[in-house]
Amino acid sequence: LPDPAGDEIRSTCAYCGVGCGVLLRPDGTGGLAVRGDPDHPANFGRLCSKGTNLGETVDLDDRLLHPVLNGEQVGWDTAMETLATKFRDAIAAHGPDSVAFYVSGQLLTEDYYLANKLMKGFIGSANIDTNSRLCMASTVAGHKRAFGTDTVPGTYEDLEEADLVVLTGSNLAWCHPVLYQRIAAAKQARPKMRIIVIDPRRTATCDLADMHLPLKPGSDVALFNGLLAAIGETGTCDGAFLDNVDGYDEALAQAQASDLGLTGLDPALLHEFFHAWISTEKVVTVFSQGVNQSSSGSDKVNAIINCHLATGRIGKPGMGPFSVTGQPNAMGGREVGGLANTLACHMDITNPDHRQAVRQFWDAEAMPQDHGLKAVEMFQAVGRGEIKAIWIIHTNPAVSMPDADAVKAALAGCEFVAVSDVTAQTDTARLAHLLLPATAWAEKSGTVTNSDRTISRQRAVLPEPGEARPDWWALAEFGRRMGWAQAFDFTGPAEIFREHAALSGIAGGFGLDFDISGMQDLSDAAYDQMTPVRWPMTGARQGGRFFGDGRFFTASGKANMLALTPRTPVARTEPRYPFRLNTGRIRDQWHTMTRTGKSPRLSSHLAEPFLEIHPEDAARLGISAAGLVQVTSPHGRGILRALITDRVRPGDIFAPMHWTGETAPSARIDSLVAPVTDPVSGQPESKASVAAIAPY
Ligand code: SF4
Repeated sequence: LPDPAGDEIRSTCAYCGVGCGVLLRPDGTGGLAVRGDPDHPANFGRLCSKGTNLGETVDLDDRLLHPVLNGEQVGWDTAMETLATKFRDAIAAHGPDSVAFYVSGQLLTEDYYLANKLMKGFIGSANIDTNSRLCMASTVAGHKRAFGTDTVPGTYEDLEEADLVVLTGSNLAWCHPVLYQRIAAAKQARPKMRIIVIDPRRTATCDLADMHLPLKPGSDVALFNGLLAAIGETGTCDGAFLDNVDGYDEALAQAQASDLGLTGLDPALLHEFFHAWISTEKVVTVFSQGVNQSSSGSDKVNAIINCHLATGRIGKPGMGPFSVTGQPNAMGGREVGGLANTLACHMDITNPDHRQAVRQFWDAEAMPQDHGLKAVEMFQAVGRGEIKAIWIIHTNPAVSMPDADAVKAALAGCEFVAVSDVTAQTDTARLAHLLLPATAWAEKSGTVTNSDRTISRQRAVLPEPGEARPDWWALAEFGRRMGWAQAFDFTGPAEIFREHAALSGIAGGFGLDFDISGMQDLSDAAYDQMTPVRWPMTGARQGGRFFGDGRFFTASGKANMLALTPRTPVARTEPRYPFRLNTGRIRDQWHTMTRTGKSPRLSSHLAEPFLEIHPEDAARLGISAAGLVQVTSPHGRGILRALITDRVRPGDIFAPMHWTGETAPSARIDSLVAPVTDPVSGQPESKASVAAIAPY
């Protein structure tokens, strides 16, 4: 651990996928000073309120400091032996698909790598999924359909170099604030740069916008189909680039048949948007959860990509579709293959050659041949008693999953639930038979990958408290106790990273995008000193963009444009549930508040949960400002304080996702969200449930 009087230590922020660099200086008594790292390429010294106040969140109040089995403190030996025995017994009696891991975009890449290796290579099931399923699974599906691999084409610099930035389903100002700051600074330097926000709500991001399109929830495919039809009509497609693209004619024909009326937008506004997009060569279309968290999320992603492919505006400075991820290491999780439908290093679990190569590399005992259960399916299988043992690591599905009451009931009825976390004070931890104390941010070491493919180090600067241990250690120890000592004989994160990097060389051998094998021989010292590095690491594209050269990762080498039919959200408003319920983040809280809730400064921004209601709806229903409102859906019930505002459209309501509550009704908003998913990506439709509201 660093000397408090010594130099500041470089690390990265604990929260969003911007992946800002931080400089940490422990005070020697458990406290921590935090400032932005001026040399980190994600933020160049900037931090948002959450990053700035990280130092207020590192105390040991509420920390889980010892393993706990059935309410009793136990030692690690008993805890790990129990965990291995429960999994071994379930597998012996019911097969490998009777167990599951549910992990998190908060895991470091090395932890994620081991969890994936354990489940897919040795347990022999693909029942590992992650809360990244709730975050950007639709982007993964969209990228793979269009490009052949889950590749982010552009870089953060593109957001500054663009002449037009279109933010679709992204409240960047609150959810990725430092990227918002970078765009704001670029616009200030070049006032001709334009910003367009596409969002049913008038969010804080609209403060920077030249135009706001308050489209109907879920109508993004209709909107981008309309844009594609306008590109076709104006003859502004890039004929030369289209030589590298399949499916243009079919996609265009389907786009021309689309009903733009589904967007609910004024035709003049639509025309203005189409004109702005088409007439500006340097355009970046940023998208986030408003696109991903939808029953047509994958199609929304492809509708956006279609427009960039048709115009050749991809992988060139200031141009491209750009997904911003929610979590600090959602991208690292994608790289190790931590989703139930991926393998490792962007290889495909259903591809026998990929499977065989990974099996050989791992010297694996058994490999699943198909996808495992995606998050919503996984907890439904727990509820049906099909999953007998589940290990949940650094996530709180009893609050964050859709239909959260059903998830809570499923876990309460499960034969064996193990939870690794930094605290026992979460709804999920309270349901665990076994609690494993994990080290927290600033106490653990490893790597993370941010939204523009930059791999950075997180570093330990605080001591491991109590008996808390790093996740990589618990996962490796589990593997050893399951009988796979050789495969999990790791002594630290550097060794795991080297193996991950070496495996990526096999992906590179298959001609895939993710190849960081140049780092497979890093010494421990070099790993320790690693500075941020953006992949790809070799060749003409090194550190830069993909696809501007027209080379893609599909079998044909061409990109795919998809013919897309707009689909409205699955849940239909009806007289009993006439409102469309949108959920999302607020500026100063993170997920279910286990860390940010500790910070007095962060909690003073918006101190309690609320429900945004349009003034016309509030007046009609007799709801007064700051009064309590009961929200009811077919899945649950909540009580929230009314925030009457025309930021939402009439008929729409919005509530934050962060708060919980022991008993219903509460502000645990995901208990109201329908467990409806995108058929391709399995991502839940968290932004378009139906609900009724009434004064409480
Ligand atoms: Fe942390 Fe994201 Fe804020 Fe950067 S923008 S300081 S990564 S929360």
